[in-house]
Amino acid sequence: MRPICAVLCLGLAASCHRVTPVAVEPQPSASSAPNRVLPLAFTNVTLIDGSGSPPRTGTTVIVSGGRVSGIFATGSRALPENARVVDLAGKFLLPGFIDAHVHITYPFTTRPRQDSILTFLFHGGITSVRDMAGDVVALSALKQTARAPSAAWPQIYYSVIMAGAEFLRTDRRTVPVAHGMTPGEAPWLRAINDSTDIPLAIEVARWTGATAIKLYAELPASLVAKLSDEAHRQGLKVWSHSAIIPARPSDAVAAGVDVLSHGDVMVLEGNDTMPATLAGWNSARRYAAVPVESPAITRLLEQMARRGTILEPTLYVIRRSGARMRQDTTRRALWPMEDWSYALTRRAQGLGVPVVAGTDLMGWPATDSLPYIHDEMELLVSKAGFSPLQAITAATLNGARSIGIEKDYGTVAVGKVADFVILRSDPTVDIRNTRTVDLIVKEGEVHNRTWPGALSSQAR
Ligand SMILES: [Zn+2]
Repeated sequence: MRPICAVLCLGLAASCHRVTPVAVEPQPSASSAPNRVLPLAFTNVTLIDGSGSPPRTGTTVIVSGGRVSGIFATGSRALPENARVVDLAGKFLLPGFIDAHVHITYPFTTRPRQDSILTFLFHGGITSVRDMAGDVVALSALKQTARAPSAAWPQIYYSVIMAGAEFLRTDRRTVPVAHGMTPGEAPWLRAINDSTDIPLAIEVARWTGATAIKLYAELPASLVAKLSDEAHRQGLKVWSHSAIIPARPSDAVAAGVDVLSHGDVMVLEGNDTMPATLAGWNSARRYAAVPVESPAITRLLEQMARRGTILEPTLYVIRRSGARMRQDTTRRALWPMEDWSYALTRRAQGLGVPVVAGTDLMGWPATDSLPYIHDEMELLVSKAGFSPLQAITAATLNGARSIGIEKDYGTVAVGKVADFVILRSDPTVDIRNTRTVDLIVKEGEVHNRTWPGALSSQAR
């Protein structure tokens, strides 16, 4: 059995299907007519603004030109002239959700299927996604199409992979998305060693339209530090595996990476020596020997809290993986992984580490009615001790921070882009109520939830 991260976190096409660049832009399903011309007044709603502040009942939110222009108690001020009023009595208005760990182009390798997953995510209340590696040629085109407020897709922010040469040379998942280039030489699948011209590699990565570099595997601490410094100098974010191997989680934090993904992998911080390659990382995890209260993990979490490094625990995928592991007695040493990861996330939150909600699995349009971001929020509450408001912040404001778009997204506040999700039931009473998606608002454009049924069965 392959490790979680090798299967999921690279997110590149694991099958041998060749991805063919498509010249025709997809046409995401859109709302029936442009509705952003007049100011919008969402009245009588309970506002949950994503910042962690308590809900505000009886609130009016005004949107003009795609941004929030006013928030006040309903009836306390006159509405703008010509405002279109959307009475949301009994409903709840939140920032649109952000899934901070998706792979749009895996396993969704064709344009109809990419349309399907993006439409599915959007109708599940997700208005932005952080794509953690895949087919950058396809993602670049998808990102452009997703920009339109009328497009019923989330906004897409993606990364390029940087890793050791041997990994990129040997990992077969890279071939289908290299588009004829040699994996390791493509700007979005870049092998890094001591002789790499790092400023140039980062510059070329930036030209792909990426938001970030993703540090994946087989990089020493010295190169992690150089890559992180240069990426930040050139305005890119740095998204990282928790253990880039042989660099440690603490090396990545010391290097200033913005986000560490996969809480389960952080257990490697407790090892005296790190495996040199990904091949050795799975057997190196010693959950029983390295409790989350151990000095090594405590130091790591305190270091993250001090530096503001965001933890993306990916609890939902760990739960799925943990259930499979418990069927396999040869992997008994990994059975504590799931509970360890919950405990780690709980402790991280307690120590002040910002936590972001990412699924690494997204959801499955063929069989699911809602994306797994709702399951991730539920696990944060039920297993990691978060309050519902804290879980919502993980899926909104902290999602925006992980991408670097928090000035415009992630909370409902005057001046910010009007990306909302409207719920029928109160998620602060029961976090499972985030699933009661009624409307999605994208840059002031109101979309009805029409999933399932938005696409033909072939596209799913
Ligand atoms: Zn992933």
